[in-house]
Amino acid sequence: MQKPKVRELAEAIKAIFSQRYTSKFPKEDAEVAPTFRGAPEYQDQGCVGCTACYNVCPADAIHLEDSVNETEGERHLQVNLEECIYCGQCEKYCTTGEGIELSQEYSLAFSGKEGPTTEVDKDLVICDACGEVLGSKEHILWLYSKLGNLAYSNPSIFLTYLENLDLARRDRLNERPGHRSDRVRVLCPECRREITVIEEGEK
Ligand code: SF4
Ligand code: SF4
Repeated sequence: MQKPKVRELAEAIKAIFSQRYTSKFPKEDAEVAPTFRGAPEYQDQGCVGCTACYNVCPADAIHLEDSVNETEGERHLQVNLEECIYCGQCEKYCTTGEGIELSQEYSLAFSGKEGPTTEVDKDLVICDACGEVLGSKEHILWLYSKLGNLAYSNPSIFLTYLENLDLARRDRLNERPGHRSDRVRVLCPECRREITVIEEGEK
């Protein structure tokens, strides 16, 4: 019975003179390890709005909303930090590698009804013919930058690029494709398939 007590006493004395293991949080900020996975934060400059993070999130903590009117649209991505499990999958699988980062932020207590979030908005490119969402404009421009000359095999990509430079104009919105020349328009896969079928019939 004596031995453990002596050992405990020795440990207590050692603890008095050794470094603290606890912090004075919330009075003082606690230091976290460099690899600590804190609150994710969207980086507007690095994010292209591709939705890969939304698709890989295992907790369904990322919410996606595409609002489209007849000629344009906007994508809203929002991480609800109350639902997030801080797994880091969004950061790991981000298409650009710099669109979302897990910060060192750990203090996420809130008092109102709305919990903490991080969000980003991106313009959408929609199909000339049917208004279907093709993707975010920045994602398509990012694809153009990666594909180089190969981008000219896909009219939706190179026309979005040229329109962004004010070198092309989409003036036939909401008009169904009806002729092979319609291949050179910004079209969703379904409308492009339709024009391919029409073209085959014209041969
Ligand atoms: S850290 Fe994990 S749970 Fe949180 S938003 Fe990213 S993928 Fe979803
Ligand atoms: S660029 Fe990264 S952060 Fe932005 S939507 Fe795509 S995967 Fe998510």
